[in-house]
Amino acid sequence: MIPADTAEAQILDLVVPLDSRRDCETVSLLQATGRILSESVISPLDFPHWDNSAMDGYAVRYEDVSTASETTPVELTVVEDIPAGKPPQKTVEPGQAARILTGAMVPTGANTIVIQENTQREGDRIQILSPPGLKAFIRERGTFVKEGDRLLSVGNEVTPPEVAVLAAAQRSEVQVYRRPRVAILSTGNELVTPNEPLQPGQIVDSNQYALASLVQQMGAIPLCQGIVSDDPTQLKQAIKTAVEEADMVLSSGGVSVGDYDYVDTILQELGAAIHIQSVAVKPGKPLTVATFPKRVPPLLYFGLPGNPVSALVSFWRFVAPALRKLSGRVDNWSATFLTARSHQVLKAGGKRETYLWGQLHTTPSGLEFSLAQGSHSSGNLINITGTQGLAVVPIGVTEIEAGSQVRVLWINQALQN
Ligand code: AMP
Ligand code: MG
Repeated sequence: MIPADTAEAQILDLVVPLDSRRDCETVSLLQATGRILSESVISPLDFPHWDNSAMDGYAVRYEDVSTASETTPVELTVVEDIPAGKPPQKTVEPGQAARILTGAMVPTGANTIVIQENTQREGDRIQILSPPGLKAFIRERGTFVKEGDRLLSVGNEVTPPEVAVLAAAQRSEVQVYRRPRVAILSTGNELVTPNEPLQPGQIVDSNQYALASLVQQMGAIPLCQGIVSDDPTQLKQAIKTAVEEADMVLSSGGVSVGDYDYVDTILQELGAAIHIQSVAVKPGKPLTVATFPKRVPPLLYFGLPGNPVSALVSFWRFVAPALRKLSGRVDNWSATFLTARSHQVLKAGGKRETYLWGQLHTTPSGLEFSLAQGSHSSGNLINITGTQGLAVVPIGVTEIEAGSQVRVLWINQALQN
């Protein structure tokens, strides 16, 4: 049994990300949200594209108005109206001003903007009642970004701000990594699909769906391989096919020490190198992590525990970081831990890092954690619904008092109020 942090680090070391040249595709901008860039995006333009006004007011020559005050206003002649989108037609000469609106180009000759509130207009005459600073309210060309500068890098996730930048840079299409394909197979003679009548002793294969949903949520493509019985020949064939077709393979069940737990043996027969067989976590102790050294590119195989909650926890703690790295993201692969004040006492056995699920609430004094009611058995799927985090009781600790600050593995972006 190795500690969870060690296992996560070892797993991340084993991941070979998709290739930014080979494993990419072009998508339209509206299809790009959530995708990972496989190209860096260079600005084709200066931002701002030209000197423009940040306010509604008058474009003037600083020299003309520097002495203006309410008692000694400076009077200028308005020679032009410049709304946004209309290039100025005239140069502002001494004694002149141009009406200018937010976003409009600053005319030549003018070197500052007097905001409307500091002026009084009569016909084509304008009184300046207060002096602006030199270049006040002028957004100068290229001061945000210059043409040729890098706007976005390979490995950046496309979120709404990136979409805005790409649109502003006139990119209607963008190169992204293809979505990783993740094969999912469930092992166990007792398993049936949700559509089959349940006979005594049988269990519905919920892991197939839970894992597919997790894979989808992370922007990858689940390849659902269905249920494979605990028969070494069939299992071997199913694993072989999955390894050939996918970028990562997840199986659940069959990795414990039971009589029908064949996964590890079969992996070895197929030439896999097994790196991890159990991790000091509860739930989720049996976890097989293997690679196929002869396969190009290399592939990571996770043999997850069969218990439904164990499978979920193992995914959140170990598979998700690996999938983030595989997807081409440059960083932030690791699981996210938050700190929250626990409403209840948290108990654990002390031998393994223990995860207890519950809700995370945002309060004015910070995050709070409330333990889900009911059994925290690894077989109890039911009360993990509606939770956002897993409180962590470290190895060597058997009890955390109510009111203490605890580390919480964040499993669901949406928090409760
Ligand atoms: P195993 O690791 O194969 O011994 O399975 C441990 C427990 O998880 C057993 O109670 C199984 O019935 C259950 N289990 C295994 N696979 C699944 C699955 N795909 N969906 C739901 N429960 C499962
Ligand atoms: Mg089994």
